Amino acid sequence: MMAEIKTAAYICSGCGLGDKLDVAQLGKIAQKEGKMALVREHDFLCNSAGVQMIRDDIEKEAVTHICIAACSRRSKTEAFNFPTVAMTRANLREGVVWVVAEGSEHDEVRQEMADDYVRMGCAELKKVKLPEGNPNTTHLKNILVVGGGMSCQLCQANVEIYQSEINKKKGTKLAMPVVYYSQLMAVAYGSSLKEAGLDGHVIQPERLKKIAERKK
Ligand code: SF4
Repeated sequence: MMAEIKTAAYICSGCGLGDKLDVAQLGKIAQKEGKMALVREHDFLCNSAGVQMIRDDIEKEAVTHICIAACSRRSKTEAFNFPTVAMTRANLREGVVWVVAEGSEHDEVRQEMADDYVRMGCAELKKVKLPEGNPNTTHLKNILVVGGGMSCQLCQANVEIYQSEINKKKGTKLAMPVVYYSQLMAVAYGSSLKEAGLDGHVIQPERLKKIAERKK
């Protein structure tokens, strides 16, 4: 049986959003068009009172899905950290207020853009699920995969080398090979162990090496 979903939208009027946008209208859109069960406005959503308001709704109102209409999803990620609920972010600050030119002649387009961001945030919210991981994979944490962009061998080696320092200080037994995403891709596309650079690790990625060897 599908778990029951309860949605809520939170609309921030901080960072000048309340001066440039009709926040009450955004609330109505979230309620009527977005079909959010709860809609709340706050003048400083990322402060402790705003975050507590959301937490209270999660705990006491059994909210399971939240749409935060405020700043970009890259902003205030520590404040808006609610691991038990699904979340979307409607980007009213960077996506609307910061990009639409100043002046009352732009009020209409600014508001229309904000309205659409709220519509999209609410629509997306009904489709998102709390990430659960892949039940078809094992949960062995025996390899760390790092960025696929610029590869710095020194950085990679440091992450491996300093595991022994951590072990000394913390009494742990870490011995986790650290590979680049690009190395995984190289193996996936049939490169040899040497071509994928798997022979230069301080901590050997044995399982990955076996896969690379099987491809030859
Ligand atoms: S940083 Fe984001 S959440 Fe905080 S007041 Fe500004 S828009 Fe609102």
